[in-house]
Amino acid sequence: MPKLRSLPVRKLRPHLANPTKGEGKPTQKLASRKIDELAKRIRLCVKCPLHQSRTLAVPGEGKKQAKFMVIGEAPGKQEDLAGRPFVGNAGRYLDHVLEGTGIQREDFFITNIVKCRPPSNRTPKRDEIQTCTSLYLFEQIRLVDPKLILLLGNTAVKAMLSLNSVDEARGRIISHDQRTYLATYHPAVRFYREDLAQKIKEDFALLKTELLRHDSVLSPS
Ligand code: SF4
Repeated sequence: MPKLRSLPVRKLRPHLANPTKGEGKPTQKLASRKIDELAKRIRLCVKCPLHQSRTLAVPGEGKKQAKFMVIGEAPGKQEDLAGRPFVGNAGRYLDHVLEGTGIQREDFFITNIVKCRPPSNRTPKRDEIQTCTSLYLFEQIRLVDPKLILLLGNTAVKAMLSLNSVDEARGRIISHDQRTYLATYHPAVRFYREDLAQKIKEDFALLKTELLRHDSVLSPS
């Protein structure tokens, strides 16, 4: 296991205004209510063209005061049908790699950059990402207020860290806008890029180290 202090920490230039912090922290009760209200708004949202291709919007789910949050790219086919995040093959693989970390689904909050499935699973467009994150994701992060955020895939890395790819972000703890991030490949990539399996394993080993370091991440709020 690497020495904790030797883990590389990279600080990125902060945004001018931090959209995931906002002013003051709401009480747990208020935050919980607002997360539910956001989910209701997301299910009815028609603010970007992606609403035309969805069956169900997928707000995200999990522990509302989670200290660990996972952010993927967009709902896939199974998620679109179920209205729930990471329930298809990619979700099963995510559960599999998380097994070794000692963390269960009910311990964290999981969502996506955009909440509606793009046609044929294409990558969400820049304006769709801007609309959806500014309306919903930044507010979800502010309300959940996690200590650690795991980004899955290039779209999440670009949207949250303004880096170009997972390759640029993975393998280190990133401190950005007063939040702490780790990044790895989207679990779906595992099904057509066998060569990334080892890197994904390494990334989840680093996640486990970081979760142990913040053992409070796993304990009840
Ligand atoms: S992707 Fe986001 S902004 Fe676009 S319609 Fe769905 S919930 Fe609304």
